[in-house]
Order: sequence, then C-alpha cells, then structure tokens
Amino acid sequence: MFFAAGMEMDDQDAWKGWLAAVTRMLASLGPAERHAWKLTADRVRSHKERLSELTAAPGAAALCSACRGACCAGGKHHLTPLDLLVSLAAGNPPFTPRFHDLPCPYLDRSGCRMAPEFRPFPCLSFVCEAIDGRFSTAQQALIQQAEAELREIYRELAAVHGEWLTRGLFLAPVSPLPSRLFPSGGSHERCP
Ligand code: SF4
Ligand code: SF4
Repeated sequence: MFFAAGMEMDDQDAWKGWLAAVTRMLASLGPAERHAWKLTADRVRSHKERLSELTAAPGAAALCSACRGACCAGGKHHLTPLDLLVSLAAGNPPFTPRFHDLPCPYLDRSGCRMAPEFRPFPCLSFVCEAIDGRFSTAQQALIQQAEAELREIYRELAAVHGEWLTRGLFLAPVSPLPSRLFPSGGSHERCP
C-alpha cells in the first residue's frame, strides 16, 4: 500500500492505475516513437529470454515444482513499469494479480502467470543454492554475462527515461509516469 497525492491506495487500485497509465502511454506513441519503443521492448525481451534459457538447469523444473516457488515470496515488488510496458507492447493481455493469498501476486496454481521472457529481472537472475550446483563453471560465467547485459539495458533506460521506469511498481506512486515514453522537444508531460 502507498500514498499518492494524499490518498491511500490499495494494491488493486495501484495495479489498475499503472495498467491504465501504461496503456495510455503506449496509445499516445506516434509511428516513429512506436518503432523506437518496439526495438527497445524487443531488446529487453530477447535478453530476458536468453537469461531464462541459461538459468533453466537440467532438472530445475522438478526441483521448483517440489519446492512450490519458495523464492517467489516478495515477488510483488519485482515487477517494474518497464516490465509491464514490454509485456503490454507485445500484446499480452493484462491479468488481475492476487494480492492476498499467495506468496507472489503474479503466481497461480500452475506457476508464474508471466512467460519467462516477460518476468521481472530478479526472477530471471535469481538462482538458489539447490539449482546453482547444477551449473558448470562455464555455464555460471554465461549466466553472469547475460545478467550483466540485461542490468546494463535497465540502467541505460532508467538514465534516459527516469528511475521510475525500473523501480518496483508498488514502491512509487503512479503519478511520476510521463504520459509519453519518448517526449518530443524535451517536453516532460505528466499524468494528471
Ligand atoms: S529456484 Fe530454488 S527456491 Fe526458487 S522455486 Fe526453484 S528450487 Fe525453489
Ligand atoms: S513474478 Fe513470477 S517468477 Fe517472479 S516472484 Fe512472482 S510468480 Fe515468481
């Protein structure tokens, strides 16, 4: 729960606020901005896919299934506006998180509701001890390299568009979201 413009918002309200703001921002893009954003979103998505493939150790799925997602506790704060933008830009339908009865609101009985290439960065880079032991030294080096590359993309985008883009959705009010991701003429319009 957080406070925005003097109002207390619950998680569901905050989620709806972000969905509306991100959808509005994507709809506001002109052709050139849309193309630029598509390239950015594709870049983020392909790096996430690469990292998720590298961290999918043999037998890991069975381990995770038996463990029932212990590392997903706290996942609520992993998703960022950037992750949401990349997912919605790819045409993924929005879903309704469950905030009260599961370790992560993006989890359901069959696992994470997001495909690996759309999951938050911490979810893709985290490797628990049980799984880490299954990687060779060479595989660990590849994972570290892929993680560093994705981290650098997040850092670059935050430097250009603002820190809000790569912070947890629920750690900041919706109000800092610019109405356009690529403002023209240096304008930095804000949502009302
Ligand atoms: S990565 Fe480790 S802690 Fe997380 S679900 Fe799999 S086995 Fe469990
Ligand atoms: S977003 Fe998905 S992978 Fe990440 S913590 Fe939540 S359920 Fe787990």
